[in-house]
Amino acid sequence: MKRILYPATEIAVDLGTANTLVLVKGEGVVLDEPSVAAVDAATGVVKCIGLEAKRMLGRTPDGILAVRPMKDGVIANFAVAEKMLRHFLRTVITRHFFRVKPRVIVSVPSGITEVERRAVRDSARTAGAKELLMVAEPMAAAIGVGLPVETASGSMVIDIGGGTSEIAVIALSGIVADSSIRTGGDELDQAIIHFMRKAYNLLIGEPTAEAVKIRIGSAVPLEPELTMDVRGRDLVSGLPKTVIVHSEEIRDAIQEPIQRIVNAVRRALEVTPPELASDIIERGIILTGGGAMIRGLDVLIEHEVGLPVRVGDDPLTAVVRGTGKILEFPERFQDVLTS
Ligand code: ADP
Ligand code: MG
Repeated sequence: MKRILYPATEIAVDLGTANTLVLVKGEGVVLDEPSVAAVDAATGVVKCIGLEAKRMLGRTPDGILAVRPMKDGVIANFAVAEKMLRHFLRTVITRHFFRVKPRVIVSVPSGITEVERRAVRDSARTAGAKELLMVAEPMAAAIGVGLPVETASGSMVIDIGGGTSEIAVIALSGIVADSSIRTGGDELDQAIIHFMRKAYNLLIGEPTAEAVKIRIGSAVPLEPELTMDVRGRDLVSGLPKTVIVHSEEIRDAIQEPIQRIVNAVRRALEVTPPELASDIIERGIILTGGGAMIRGLDVLIEHEVGLPVRVGDDPLTAVVRGTGKILEFPERFQDVLTS
C-alpha cells in the first residue's frame, strides 16, 4: 500500500513513564511503544528502544540492562531518556518526509525540573523539531477527555500512569490544585511480586506481575471473583512452578498502593477552592492513564471521597489526544502551554 504523504508539520508526544505515544496532526496516533531501552551495562551503549527492548525485560542476557529512563516521572537517566525521545521522534519524522521541520508539543509530568525540561528540549531539537512547547500531563489528559479546561468552571482529573499518579484541579487553563505521587501501576506490579514470593515462594518477573494485575487485579470485590494460573520459579526447589491465584488475594496484595492513590485524591480535594469543589461535585472526577483500568478503581474512589468518578474514554491515549487537540486549536489552548 502506498503511503499518503500528509502535509502536516505538527507532532504531539506523550513521554510517559511506561509508554511513549506520538500523534501527527491530521493523522492520529502513529507510534505507541514502551518507554524502555536496552542498554549494554559495560559500555552504556543503547542496543534497542521501545517494544523490542520491553520484550527483554526480565529476560535480558548478561550484560544487557532494560532501562526505563522515565520510571518515576522524573528523568532518572538523562542520556538514555534523550536517546529514546530522539529515536521515537526521528522514527516518526523520517517516516513522514516532513517538508519543513515540525512543531512539537511534548506533555511532561507537572513536577518536571528546569534541568529535565532542557534535556527534553535538547533531544527534540537534535531529533529535528523546529519549535518545542510543553504541556503538563494532567492538563493534556483533561483536554483529551473533553473537559472544559479553559472555562472558569473546575474539573478534576486523575491520571494514573506506570510510575506516577497526577491529580489536578483545572480551571481557566491553569492547574489550581494538584497532588502528584510517585505511585502508579508499576507499584501494583511490585506488590504482586512481593506477595507471590511471600505467600507461595514463587519468584515472578515484572511482565508476569503486570499480566496478573491486568487479568485479575481489582480495587473492590468482584462478582464473580477470578482465578489465574501463574508461572514462576520456586524459590525452594529452584524449579519452574505454577500456582493458582485468586483475585481476592491480589486485591489484598495491591491494597496499599491503591490506598496511597486514594489519599492523594483526598489531599487534592482538601486544597481545592470551595467554588471549584462545587463544580467537581456536579461534574465528577475523571480517571485517565493505564492505571485507571484497574477493575473497580472508579467505584472505590467514588466510595472513599463521596464524589462521582468515571473512567475517561480510551484512558491510555487521553494525554496524547489532548496534546493533539492543542495543536488543532492553538488559539483556544494557547494558555495551557509552557515553553
Ligand atoms: P505512563 O503514562 O506513565 O506511560 P500509561 O498511562 O501508559 O503510563 O499506563 C501504564 C500503566 O497502566 C502500567 O502500569 C500498566 O500496567 C497499566 N495498565 C495498562 N492496562 C491496564 C489494565 N487493563 N488494567 C490495569 N492496569 C493497566
Ligand atoms: Mg501518562
